Amino acid sequence: MSAVSKFKLLPEVDQFLGTSPIQGFAGGKHFPTTTGTLIASIDPGSGEKITDIPDMSAAEVSQAVDIANHAFPKWAALPQKERSALLLKLADAVESKKAVIGQIEALEAGKIEAQAQGDVQNFADTLRYFVKLADGVVTHTKLDIPGHEAWTTKQPWGACGFIFPWNFPFLLIGWGISPALASGNTVVIKPAEDTSLSAIYLARLAKEVGIPDGVINVVTGLGQTAGAALAGNPNIKRMSFTGSPEVGKLVAEACARNLVPVKLELGGKGAAVVFEDVDVVGTAEKLVGAITFHTGQVCCDATRWFIHEKIYDQFIEVCKDRLKKVRIGHPLDPNSQMGPVVNPKQHARVLGYQEKGKSSGAQCIFGGGPATVAGLQGNYVQPALLTGPLDNIAAREEIFGPVAFVAKFKTEQEAISMANDTDYGLANSVWTQDPARAARVAEAMVAGNSWINAHNVFPHGVPYGGVKKSGLGGGVLSPEVLMDYYRNTSVVRPI
Ligand code: NAD
Repeated sequence: MSAVSKFKLLPEVDQFLGTSPIQGFAGGKHFPTTTGTLIASIDPGSGEKITDIPDMSAAEVSQAVDIANHAFPKWAALPQKERSALLLKLADAVESKKAVIGQIEALEAGKIEAQAQGDVQNFADTLRYFVKLADGVVTHTKLDIPGHEAWTTKQPWGACGFIFPWNFPFLLIGWGISPALASGNTVVIKPAEDTSLSAIYLARLAKEVGIPDGVINVVTGLGQTAGAALAGNPNIKRMSFTGSPEVGKLVAEACARNLVPVKLELGGKGAAVVFEDVDVVGTAEKLVGAITFHTGQVCCDATRWFIHEKIYDQFIEVCKDRLKKVRIGHPLDPNSQMGPVVNPKQHARVLGYQEKGKSSGAQCIFGGGPATVAGLQGNYVQPALLTGPLDNIAAREEIFGPVAFVAKFKTEQEAISMANDTDYGLANSVWTQDPARAARVAEAMVAGNSWINAHNVFPHGVPYGGVKKSGLGGGVLSPEVLMDYYRNTSVVRPI
């Protein structure tokens, strides 16, 4: 039985998924693709097909970019108040459709339904945050330069391209496009081929609330076709990519050839440094929560746990006990705590890293391997704890599943060195009752983000981004990001 029939879908979700293929969206309507090549959209929780989406050609992607550039002058010329009012209507509409979009996302991305709804709420909140910021931006600034009349202006760029991964499809669209739209740019979104449906739903909703045609466009398809076509399009004025470092480099190269500014939000191999003075049970529960949240498919997850030797044994015992109790199941089953991974390729990757880790010297001290859920052929895996030498492949590379590599430390300096011994630099956390030590360690860990006594914290207004192999040229969620979406012009008249 397919999940689509096993779990009752909302009538609106049924209706939305009732057509196949579900085409991309450009210029206020579904884009009639002619390539005829379709990609099956699969429910990772049951392995059943949901619908198809087209693999759009490079020429079709280019048309969508032209549509976005064509819509740009009018959108940019709208008084800020009018543009903001339209975007706030979109935020309200998204919020009112939380259950619908959440269910689409749960079905397509394998995300626990309540978490998917949280992501939809986050989209609405992000859009409201950037609209409010944009309302306060001073676009003309007079410069006091002797002998000259001078000022600077800020204006939007034009059509901006966005390429997104499959792990947080809707939330990341919100983080990406909100500052671009609020400042007057138009957007072309290329969602991941596994998770394109919520983006298409968004574009339709935008049309319904009166966002002008061509302002929000969605192209669908494979990375090497539609994604590469968008990244290499010379008429995109800015590009933002979220995904793996390997593909990020390709996107950056393509943008460099056209001198298109690009920002990259990439992978991670985050550490959690746990000192001996913590509440062991509470901290262990939080890290178990982090590694099983969205089945570990979280870029900033804590996947290397460094535990002070005095509490190591007790800590690991509590983790094992809590991990045993995690209920694995279909994302639409309200009893499930951890869903599947997104596709068979990711399933093989997570299990493959466990095998490669073990065959090169790591020990699996808890779980690991595939998981089964009665009656469903989904991509389920068991959470796992590995330990061993820290040069092990499973300790160094991003696995992107519910797998943590654990190790002991003795001193603060040793813990900092262990946390920093990685190619990545996205997010780490430090856990201690000592505020001075917490601040010291948080600042000494080389990454875009350090959290204290928590992991995965994203309040609007706090910059979130990566360094080293984890990111380039920006970040998200903060006022600086909004400024990226204005280009500056200096105007000078000698007097
Ligand atoms: P991916 O790099 O394989 O794909 C991301 C997107 O790029 C998809 O839309 C894909 O179709 C597209 N793509 C693939 N090849 C392309 C090409 N040649 N040219 C242009 N586009 C192409 O990543 P994924 O597997 O979808 O996502 C997982 C990765 O994303 C992990 O590394 C994760 O850490 C990272 N991620 C980072 C953040 C962050 O904010 N830093 C957030 C979420 C995910």
